[in-house]
Amino acid sequence: MVVTMARETSADAMYEAMRARLERIVPDVELRQKAELACEINRLKRARNAVILGHNYMEPALFNSIPDYVGDSLELSRQAAATSADIIVFCGVRFMAETAKILNPTKTVLVPSDRAGCSLAASITAAAVRALRQRFPGVPVVTYVNTYADVKAESDVCCTSSNAAAVVESLGVDTVIFVPDEYMARNIARETGRHVIFPTLVSPAEPAAGLDYQLVGWHGRCEVHEQFRAEDVRTIREQFPDVVVLAHPECSPEVVAAADFSGSTTAMVKFVERSSAPRYLLLTECAMGDNVAAANPGKEMLRLCSVRCPHMNQITLEDTLRSLQLTQYVIDIPEEIRVRAARAVERMLAVG
Ligand code: SF4
Repeated sequence: MVVTMARETSADAMYEAMRARLERIVPDVELRQKAELACEINRLKRARNAVILGHNYMEPALFNSIPDYVGDSLELSRQAAATSADIIVFCGVRFMAETAKILNPTKTVLVPSDRAGCSLAASITAAAVRALRQRFPGVPVVTYVNTYADVKAESDVCCTSSNAAAVVESLGVDTVIFVPDEYMARNIARETGRHVIFPTLVSPAEPAAGLDYQLVGWHGRCEVHEQFRAEDVRTIREQFPDVVVLAHPECSPEVVAAADFSGSTTAMVKFVERSSAPRYLLLTECAMGDNVAAANPGKEMLRLCSVRCPHMNQITLEDTLRSLQLTQYVIDIPEEIRVRAARAVERMLAVG
């Protein structure tokens, strides 16, 4: 999605536009200060021929001011692949910026904080994927895009939460290794009628004889989405019987089963836009609840806001300004790894 304020350089106009959208969400004093910062970033962005990509989990003042494009991982990967800018500033976490670099080797790709990691990306290594391949010879590896470049390089194809089941099905084979998100693997297994196992890499060397499985998973989890409980959904429904519950597929299968809808962040945004229900519970990163509430002023968003991603939370307007001023933090990927990772990412983009 294109954001209209991305080229605005007048602090007054930026403040008015941000206030119109965010006055119920962000205190006025903060809006004034952030409007000035956002204008400074937009000026520098133009001067340096940069493009800013903003993930749906960015805090509301940033999300609604400086990004040229906002969206989920899949949409932003597509924008990264298509841009003609010299510099890509990725307002998201490191693995997202790496995906942009994988697709744009000649461009400078920046991530505004060097502390924007991800518990899923940290849960698996390239060596672990190679060990899985050895243990399950000939079985293709589907890797969730929430991984680092060296893990993508060991994979046959990547996927996002938008297209995970479609990517698995597109392979047309009986058995698939799916890493690293345990809950997403379980959710895909249910959606596609497959049986999933989670082998350890230490012993035994082979899965138990006669074990029936079509998905081989890994025990990675998103530290945000694993916190939601089916019990939370029941409690909220008791208090608000008309609430519509939306769960991200990184939530547990029990939470997904208790929800009315499960989909990627963009699928959730579209669901709320198209639905006429008055009240929603978004089981995902909390800043997104603010952003969806800002875009849908007539609808109430309930949030369980003890849950913010500590990695996404690292990305601020201040850091984004410094990123453009100092050209930091530059994403570098060894070419041999990038080329192999690009094959898996491009194959994902071809699936849609
Ligand atoms: S919300 Fe979860 S999956 Fe997304 S960056 Fe944070 S830890 Fe990683």
